[in-house]
Amino acid sequence: MNIVYFYDVGFSRAANMALPVPVEEQFKCCICLDIFTDPTSIPCGHNFCLYCIEGYWDTRKACECPLCKETFGRRPKLRINLGYAEIIEIYKRFVIEYF
Ligand SMILES: [Zn+2]
Ligand SMILES: [Zn+2]
Repeated sequence: MNIVYFYDVGFSRAANMALPVPVEEQFKCCICLDIFTDPTSIPCGHNFCLYCIEGYWDTRKACECPLCKETFGRRPKLRINLGYAEIIEIYKRFVIEYF
C-alpha cells in the first residue's frame, strides 16, 4: 500500500521535479550530503536540512544560499517543508524496504 502511494503521489511528483537528475540527488542536502532531515526551503527556492542551513548561517555574517549565493538581508524564518518531508519519508521507506 505504501508502494502504490509512492508511485501515485510521491514518485510521480518527485520524478517530475528530478528529471534528468536521478531522484535520490533531489533528496540530498548539499551541506551534509545526506538525504534531508527536516527539509526547509529558503527564499531562493533551494532546500536544505533545517539544522544544516541554520548551522551554516551561524558561521557566517551574511545569510547566503550555499548553492546559488543569493544573499538575504535578514535571516529568513525557516519552517520545515512538510510536503517535501512527506515525500522524503515515503522515499526512505521505499528504499529501506526494497533496496
Ligand atoms: Zn543536511
Ligand atoms: Zn539558492
